Amino acid sequence: MKLILLGPPGSGKGTLADNLVKKYGLKHISTGDMLRSEMAKNSDLGSKAKQYMDNGQLVPDDVIIAMVEKRLGDPDCASGIILDGFPRTIQQAEALSSVVKIDMCIELVMTNELVYERICTRRVCRRCGHVTNTDFGDSTICAECGGELYIRDDDKLETIKLRLEAYYAQTAPLTEYYGEMGILLQIDAIVGRFGIFERAQEELKKILDD
Ligand code: AMP
Repeated sequence: MKLILLGPPGSGKGTLADNLVKKYGLKHISTGDMLRSEMAKNSDLGSKAKQYMDNGQLVPDDVIIAMVEKRLGDPDCASGIILDGFPRTIQQAEALSSVVKIDMCIELVMTNELVYERICTRRVCRRCGHVTNTDFGDSTICAECGGELYIRDDDKLETIKLRLEAYYAQTAPLTEYYGEMGILLQIDAIVGRFGIFERAQEELKKILDD
């Protein structure tokens, strides 16, 4: 099974991906996580990406497409993947279509108000990458591994505004792209993490039963 997750920052793509990985044993490919790991290593790719990420802009298509194509060639991607944060432009979607047949694109639909609320309260574990929210308590310690929880640099209010602008200008057209391909499932993120997962499973079951 090959899936794409689409949706504005903070809409719950990472959480849905974690649930789908556990249920279907898919490989989770998050381009944001890949770029953050390159930044942590201070690699050339990481330093190049940082300039864009810190400003809430998308990293150039050629850089991202090369990174994802290389990853998709790894043997662990053969049995099933879930792409989280890729594609984010029509050019990326076209590059992907030329190498992989996608079964479903799941779009999490969310109002800007809720996006701000979710991102401003998001906390990430520095050690294991677990994502949580201050709604679940104001601890600064990760419940999964005891690591330190921090606020991502690009989750600051001024950067969120720029990320949302980039989303609507460059990524939102993908709704129509995958809609026309007949593989788009839209879920209103207001139903919460369990509701989203249930709805996704209902539709995925139809693909698996085919
Ligand atoms: P994310 O963790 O998915 O919210 O991504 C964080 C940042 O990484 C984005 O704001 C972009 O700057 C960059 N990024 C991640 N995925 C892509 C992509 N597919 N194309 C361009 N930039 C990306």
